[in-house]
Formats: sequence, structure tokens, C-alpha cells
Amino acid sequence: MEWTERYFDKEKECMSRDEMTALQSERLVKQVANVYNNVAFYNKKMKELGIEPGDIKGIEDINKLPFTTKEDLRDNYPFGLLAVPKSKVARVQGSSGTTGKLTLASYTQADTELWGECVARCMTMAGLTDEDIIHTCYGYGLFTGGLGIDFGARKLGAMVIPMSSGNTQRQMMCMEDFAATAIACTPSYALYLAESLRDAGLVDKLKIKAGILGAEPWTVEMREQIESILGIKCFDIYGLCEILGPGVAMECVHHKGLHIHEDYFYPEILNPATNEACADGETGELVFTTLTKEAMPLIRYRTKDLTSIDHSVCDCGRTLPRISKFKGRTDDMKVIRGVNVFPTQVEAALLSMGGEVAPHYMMIVDRENNMDKLTVMVEVDERYFSDEIRELEGLKNKIAGVLKQALGIAVHVKLVEPKTIARSEGKAKRVIDNRNL
Ligand SMILES: [Zn+2]
Repeated sequence: MEWTERYFDKEKECMSRDEMTALQSERLVKQVANVYNNVAFYNKKMKELGIEPGDIKGIEDINKLPFTTKEDLRDNYPFGLLAVPKSKVARVQGSSGTTGKLTLASYTQADTELWGECVARCMTMAGLTDEDIIHTCYGYGLFTGGLGIDFGARKLGAMVIPMSSGNTQRQMMCMEDFAATAIACTPSYALYLAESLRDAGLVDKLKIKAGILGAEPWTVEMREQIESILGIKCFDIYGLCEILGPGVAMECVHHKGLHIHEDYFYPEILNPATNEACADGETGELVFTTLTKEAMPLIRYRTKDLTSIDHSVCDCGRTLPRISKFKGRTDDMKVIRGVNVFPTQVEAALLSMGGEVAPHYMMIVDRENNMDKLTVMVEVDERYFSDEIRELEGLKNKIAGVLKQALGIAVHVKLVEPKTIARSEGKAKRVIDNRNL
């Protein structure tokens, strides 16, 4: 069947590079004057750097502007970075920070409309239209997942089933009874749900055709696994509440990276050590400037996500540049015996073994006699626990070999029975570091 995207907005998503640069430049010049005049934090930062709004003539001057970090958000918590009077704020959303306080983002009414437009674009990339029924098990509340999908569905004119997270039995019942055609949740929960639907013999009774999955890193292999269990197409959606929530970027059907809505969010990929711009294809830290946001505009916000960018025109026709799947976060990276290790490497290695092991794992880092020790707990099929012990040992050695090859360090493998490792409906926790570094 030919792939069609009924609401694909070619005027906005297929601009020439020159048209896009002109639009971004015009928006940046306005935004810089706005933050200079209305946000004390940026006024001070720009003065420290000796820059005035007039020095920024277009997007090519963006590297003259100061960075914004998560710490800056924390220091100005909750409303210190507003560029509008608080009475213009229509809602707040947040994500839990590691230190207890939330990372809080504020939105005007126009910001929520922009959010809806971006998520609707994403849904269009997943082939959805106003006839679709979207079952969302992202949490509603301060977390941006649930409401972000809701705003997008409203803009698209689709039906939304606001399930929120939890109670898998009820999720399965509603998916079947309401004939959901799409699901939105984290990929780890999608896989759990897919396995549960398969085990309950319900897959054939579903009308589902697409999954919009995000809020945590996942691999191509994991996508293929969910797709094959449910017989659907899955798409990676990306966002962060500081910038918008879900809908900042999204994969199209060609799966050649996630298209960034760069008419609203200007992306830079910077070498984290030198802050110099990376060339297309080179890995660096993703940095965003919100070009049109009203309530809490951010200039050069450092996401700590490591990726690379591709500005070539996609097979789908969009000129919106594509970022690769994340190669980890600057914070998730663990240095173990001097080697940089990312959880996504473990996941990719396990999935490369085919159906032998489930991609459910936990990395535990300890220090014994001043030496780092990495243990990876992996779920394996229950038949290994009922069969000969030798078979279990053989599998354990095989996994240890695959992981050693992938990570470049020795790994202790501990095999556990299916569904032993906690599934997460928010972001999956994949690493426990006991070293107290
Ligand atoms: Zn594309």
C-alpha cells in the first residue's frame, strides 16, 4: 500500500534552505530583543558578554549568544525566566529533576497552540488523520507526555483515549473495546504491553496500526520487535518540557532520523568540549533556541543529549533536518574502568542476539578493591530455568561475550526470569551506580 500523509504541511515542512534561514533569522532577531528587554537573566548574560540585540542580525550570529543550562532553570525556579507577565501564563508542565525540585516550563495560550501544531505534524508523519483513535498511556499531569499528545490529537481532529499510565489489564481491554488505531507511550511500556497482548491472545482483535513512542532512548531493534509482535509501524517522538514537550522532533516513515521542527526550534550540534559547531554527521550535544515561544523562551539551551544532524532532503520530501537516534546523554554516560559506556549500547547488543534474550536489562556498577565492576542483569526466556543448568551457563557466557565485544570491557552477566526487572511507565531506569563517585 502506498504511504500517504493526508495533512502533511508541505508549505512549512519543505521550505528551501534559503527560505528557512530567512524565516529563522527574522524570528531570532525578534526573540533576542524580546528576551533582552523582558528577561532579567538574559539581559544580564548578554551585558556580561558585551552584546546588544542589534548585534544579532540573523541566525549566523547565534554563536554570539549565551548558553542556557538546566542549572539556570533551577536557579530561576519557578517563574524567573518568564518573558511575559505571569497573568499571560496559561499552564505549567514539569519533569522531575534529580535533586527534588521540578524542571518547570510555562506556556502561554499561543505556546500550547504551537505545541498542538507540532504534535499534529508528528502524528501526520505517523500516517494518522482525523479518523484515528489514539490510545495514550503517557501520564497526564505535570509530565508533558499525556497532555502533549492530547493537544496534538485535538489539532488533528483525532479521537484521544486519555488512559494515562498503569493497570495493563484495563489498558488492553480499552484498546480492544474502543478500537484504538494508534498508541502513544514509552517504548519500554509498549514492548511490555505488546508482550502482554500477545500472551493474552488479543493481538488479532486489535485495530492498531501505529505507535508514537518516546520519552526514553530506544533502539531500532526494539522498534522492530514491537512492530513484529503487534504488526504495526512505530515512530520515535522526541521532546523535552524545557523546549516544548513531545513534538520537538519525530521520525517519518523512512526512519532516517527525527525531523526537527526547526522553524520553531533552531538546533545546533556542538562539540561538548569546545562548543564549536559540528559538521553534519558528527556527534555532539544538541542545543536549542526557541524562536517563537512566548512564556519561557530559551536561548541556546543545552539538552545534554548527544546526537548528529543531517540537513539533506529526506525521502519523504521534508527539508526539516534530521537528528540521529541519541547516542546517550552526557549524564547517562558512565565511565567504567576509563571507558565511556552508554545504556543504549547494552540494549543494542542484547537485541542483536535475536529472540534469545529480552531487551529488559539493568546495569549495576560497583567498585571492588578499587576496581570498577559492571554487572548486567538480563531477562531470558523461562525455559532456560526449567532446562539443564548447563544451557543457562552457556547462554550467560554468550551474552557476556557479546557485551564485552560491544562495550570493550568485561561484564558480569546475571540471568533472571521474565518480568523480574521493573517495567517503567515513565523513563526506564537502566543503571544503578553504587560507586558513590
Ligand atoms: Zn522524512
